[in-house]
Amino acid sequence: MTEKYVYNFNEGDKDMRSLLGGKGANLAEMTNMGINVPYGFTVTTEACARFYKEDKKIWEDLKKEITNHIKDLEEHNGKTFGSTEDPLLVSVRSGAPISMPGMMDTILNLGLNDDAVIGLSKKTNNERFAYDSYRRFIQMFADVAMGINKNNFEKVLSAKKDEKGVTEDTELDANDLKDVVEKYKKVYKDIEGEDFPQEPREQLDKAITAVFASWNNERAILYRRLNDIDDSMGTAVNVQSMVFGNMGETSGTGVAFSRNPATGENKLFGEYLMNAQGEDVVAGVRTPKEIATLKDSLPEVFNQFHDTAEKLEQHYKDMQDMEFTIQEGQLFLLQTRNGKRTAHAAVKVAVDMVHEGLLNEKEAVLRIDPKDLDGLLHPTLSQKSIKENEPVAKGLAASPGAAVGYIAFTAKEAKKRAAKGIDVILVREETSPEDLEGMVSAVGILTARGGMTSHAAVVARGMGKCCVSGAHEIYVNEDERFVRIDGKKYSDQDVLSIDGSTGNIYVGALETENPKLEGTFGEFMSWVDKYRDMKVRTNADTPHDAKQALEFGAEGIGLCRTEHMFFKADRIFQVRKMILAHNFETRKEALDKILPMQEDDFYQIYSLMGERPVTVRLLDPPLHEFLPRGQEEIRTLAEDLNMEISEVKKRILDLEEVNPMLGFRGLRLGVRYPEISKMQARAIIQAAMHCHEDGINVVPEIMIPLSSDVKELAYVKAQVKEEIEKVFEEKGKKIDYLLGTMIEIPRAAITADQIGEITDFFSFGTNDLTQMTFGLSRDDAGKFLDLYLDKDIFAKDPFQVLDQKGVGFLVETAVERGKKANPNLHLGICGEHGGEPTTVKYLYNVGLDYVSCSPFRVPIAKLAAAQEAIEHPRNK
Ligand code: PEP
Ligand code: MG
Repeated sequence: MTEKYVYNFNEGDKDMRSLLGGKGANLAEMTNMGINVPYGFTVTTEACARFYKEDKKIWEDLKKEITNHIKDLEEHNGKTFGSTEDPLLVSVRSGAPISMPGMMDTILNLGLNDDAVIGLSKKTNNERFAYDSYRRFIQMFADVAMGINKNNFEKVLSAKKDEKGVTEDTELDANDLKDVVEKYKKVYKDIEGEDFPQEPREQLDKAITAVFASWNNERAILYRRLNDIDDSMGTAVNVQSMVFGNMGETSGTGVAFSRNPATGENKLFGEYLMNAQGEDVVAGVRTPKEIATLKDSLPEVFNQFHDTAEKLEQHYKDMQDMEFTIQEGQLFLLQTRNGKRTAHAAVKVAVDMVHEGLLNEKEAVLRIDPKDLDGLLHPTLSQKSIKENEPVAKGLAASPGAAVGYIAFTAKEAKKRAAKGIDVILVREETSPEDLEGMVSAVGILTARGGMTSHAAVVARGMGKCCVSGAHEIYVNEDERFVRIDGKKYSDQDVLSIDGSTGNIYVGALETENPKLEGTFGEFMSWVDKYRDMKVRTNADTPHDAKQALEFGAEGIGLCRTEHMFFKADRIFQVRKMILAHNFETRKEALDKILPMQEDDFYQIYSLMGERPVTVRLLDPPLHEFLPRGQEEIRTLAEDLNMEISEVKKRILDLEEVNPMLGFRGLRLGVRYPEISKMQARAIIQAAMHCHEDGINVVPEIMIPLSSDVKELAYVKAQVKEEIEKVFEEKGKKIDYLLGTMIEIPRAAITADQIGEITDFFSFGTNDLTQMTFGLSRDDAGKFLDLYLDKDIFAKDPFQVLDQKGVGFLVETAVERGKKANPNLHLGICGEHGGEPTTVKYLYNVGLDYVSCSPFRVPIAKLAAAQEAIEHPRNK
């Protein structure tokens, strides 16, 4: 049996998206639902895969199969390809299994040639329309299929308008357009070296080839990388009979969502243009009208559209993003898909749909991609700053959140400055897919043109990035690199603040504030908590971070890095003295000064966290990181320590290491200077006892970093215990506490059976564990990791997404061996991976009791854990 590579729309359904692509599968589904969809067929993703094996050519059998489907289409419509009476015209559009907005290209009106244009003119009794369609087709075909820059054509059109003394395309008559068509064909021939293809079948093959080839254009590759989309998936091609939105005042085209994709409000939301074709709306060239106004101009069509949207939503149980065309008062659906939305909208839609009885709570929890929550956790402009500042202009509130940054006029510039750590807002007349990298780098996007469904708006919402689009009052001059707002010019040295929730634009840096977990989001998170059984803690070193994390629902602190407390301005001097001291007494003197400060730090954090668990880690980084570099600081220290300047300098030099990450850090410091660990242990216990006096029964968790061997750990543990016993004796009472270690050196994981015997808990430090398993410096790997990702050697950055095969093997080994040695061993992770959704899901199944991550990722980790508990519950 020969393989089947082409499916008519009535042969597929929505579950066939990996074969038919998202667009193809949904066109098939809508056809089967009886919705008015122009008939057509889909060339499958399997054909795309084979296309690449066939040297990027369409093979003979596929050509035959397509020919048969064209025949079906001709019969179905009663039209024929190339006819001078009533020609069949089609659109050719890509459609990957996962939607990739702006990445792939569309060709409309395919099938037009010097004969068919006559047929179209006769059939529609509209010569102007026929030639307008033809000239659009030549340009689109040349651009998309042959890579000829559209400017070549736009110049011809402008020249024609100048010659006629008109400004709008619509002011050109049929004869003008005939002339334009002739000139377009000449442009094509001059550049391509051959005539514009007249044979519709040849046009179609070229178009399909172009769509398949566009799967591997740079933009598509970048988009896939950013969104973790598999490169091997390929795209399908949809060939569909044309319907025309440009046939006069009762025709039009538009895109609309069944609910508001920015806020989630349950109301049709979208835009349309009358007497326009295809991509005019999405491209943002003409400013479209709001969908609600269609009710006044074409009430029947509006009602029909409203009902169709509702029907589709009920059917897909999700918010739909639809494209439609009205041809002389008749409505056609050209596409439907689950709509991209902001995190705000995603949560609101999911919660509303539970209230509407369309989803249950678990389905709602599964509906949100944990990564997308990030968009909800972004800062907004503070109420205070909104009150105190007047906006200088306003655009459309395209994607919520606030952004404060320097103006960048090009994507390249945005990328360059962002790499230097500068926050930039990408300010463009309008964005195009080429701007994608700049949009990724920028903190926000501001455009002068384009509607709510323009490229900038759609892509920004997808990224969860603040965007104000269509700010018509501003004038962007990208060549001269300025933007004029409210009569004043601003350059790349100026800072703007934009509010993607209101569309307001401000000059200068406005204050921002962090979001709160309340309202709809709060209700959603209560379901997340209900179905989750792995705990989520946070990494927090300060009361400020701890407070933020609590607001986001953290259930404890999994890592408090005490070194950050050492850096504080008022104590660094004592810390330096402690490090540089050449005898025990001087060191002890300095430590005695640091002790009350540390104790107070811990007391503050404990008080804030109540009886939630708090893991405090003893000092970890190499000591030289604390040492002064400046002459003046060195001199003061030398004086205070009664040392020669040269002696202090020598001591600093001695402490420098060639490879500090593998050097004198972690518990090795405790082996060399037990008094440091002792001071910290005392501060922790005394702070906890202080809390007990306040009625908060804290059970402190003391964590010893960087163990590699049970004996070194036993040594430091003994020192710590000895000090704690001393405190108990002095105070005349005892409290419970836990003593554990980090597993961040491969040897610790391998010897976890021994280490587990003398510890209450393990916390996986996967930053170091990744570094040491790969032998890749966590500080330097960034310099070449990109290369590994580009060349597909690594699918993901292992410092962000846990490498399950290697590092994961060590984690699993340590869990198994540790638990065998100590069945009560408590297990967690505090490396960066603790907030990464796929890693959280994996670690849930490995059997960890909790993950710990930065405050802003707490809701993300919670959601990932809840989803895994719903989908693959583990044995308790
Ligand atoms: C780790 O190594 O994963 C860890 C949490 O410790 P740090 O990042 O402080 O080295
Ligand atoms: Mg570490």
